[in-house]
Amino acid sequence: MNNYYQTNNQGHLIIGGVDALELAKNYGTPLVVYDVAQIRQQFQAFQQAFTNLKVNSVISYASKAFSAIAMYQLINQLKGHIDVVSGGELYTALKANFPTDRISFHGNNKTKEELALAVENQVGVIILDNFHEIELLEQILNNTSKRVSVMLRVTPGITAHTHQYVQTGQEDSKFGFDISSGQAEQALLKVQANKQLKLIGIHAHIGSQILAVGGFKLEVKKLMHLIREWAQKYAYQPQILNLGGGFGIRYTAQDQVLAPDIFIKEIVQTMRAYAQKYHLELPEIWIEPGRSIVGQAGYSLYTIGSSKTVPGIMPYITVDGGMGDNIRPALYQAEYETVLVRCPQAEPKQVVHLAGRYCESGDILIKQASLPQVEAGDVVAVLATGAYGYSMASNYNRVPRPAVVFAEAGHAQEVIRRETYADLVSHDCFY
Ligand SMILES: *Cc1c(COP(=O)(O)O)cnc(C)c1O
Repeated sequence: MNNYYQTNNQGHLIIGGVDALELAKNYGTPLVVYDVAQIRQQFQAFQQAFTNLKVNSVISYASKAFSAIAMYQLINQLKGHIDVVSGGELYTALKANFPTDRISFHGNNKTKEELALAVENQVGVIILDNFHEIELLEQILNNTSKRVSVMLRVTPGITAHTHQYVQTGQEDSKFGFDISSGQAEQALLKVQANKQLKLIGIHAHIGSQILAVGGFKLEVKKLMHLIREWAQKYAYQPQILNLGGGFGIRYTAQDQVLAPDIFIKEIVQTMRAYAQKYHLELPEIWIEPGRSIVGQAGYSLYTIGSSKTVPGIMPYITVDGGMGDNIRPALYQAEYETVLVRCPQAEPKQVVHLAGRYCESGDILIKQASLPQVEAGDVVAVLATGAYGYSMASNYNRVPRPAVVFAEAGHAQEVIRRETYADLVSHDCFY
């Protein structure tokens, strides 16, 4: 038995207690399905890890991994915070009635309109990324009596061992204030000079799909060092240290993942050690997991269509989705595993390229996928697609985006409906 999916007594894949073949039949394919209990468990595992260590903490779900009204409602149920990175995500959270004091607003080029929307709705904290943004925010606050809480995003100069497109903590990055060149310090002075900005913390985010704790320990070390410096020089100590997200998940058997409590224990131990060494109070710790909350809970269901077999060449089996609903394989060679929904435990009989339907040679969902004998009409599930799949979806080739379903305790509910052809042309204008 495989730990990464479950089957019913007919041997079919089940998700959230619901037969995945039924889901495909009822909602059509391609279809994104979330096992809601898995999302809850993962979120609560992070919460529990901090509680066990008696550390004040906030888990802020980085909602760019999967943003939807239902998802914000779910995080609200779990008493979590959320990160948003755009006016659109903020708007979606507002529509979900998400408490605005638990929203962190991120982004490396927030517009004045987006900042104004955040200020108007009193979001919990704006995470400042650059000097231009500080100026925009100052302009918005000017002539008002408003005060907003902010954090400074700094780049600690760490290279997390991950794909270069998902690294963010190194000095040569488009994100944040650089520490070593003194930019971060300049930002500190600029923010402190403005009484309408309340600097509550320091933020860093070192990368994504991180499978080892070493990068986080190094991050803690650099940030605690920075805090000591600022405490000595400016008598300023942030109450919050926000370490960002990036906790890795299992996409394939090659990924050796660490449980949330392991990451958190090591992070807290490291922080306690530096707090003691530098005679600092332990700051409140915030983390921003995105992928690790929704990634493994998500499944993409596809129906097999055409296939192509040429002697001497690996066969292509094509499904009814692809880069339009999951750009990750084409964008950064992301790897996945797939199973046949009617019999996930069947012995693999062939190695094939699982190709997408879009007009790009690079639209291959899985290179060298192991599958049993399959035929047109069979439904396959690509596993662990819950993060950065639907949220990066496009209408390339004018293919409607799939529906998204939440499944839990044997009950399924559509949370984003499938786009129609009418939706596709709804913004087009005749000329
Ligand atoms: C994307 C992002 C995250 C979440 O990253 P994951 O790898 O999905 O955990 C957290 N914080 C910031 C600032 C981000 O940009």
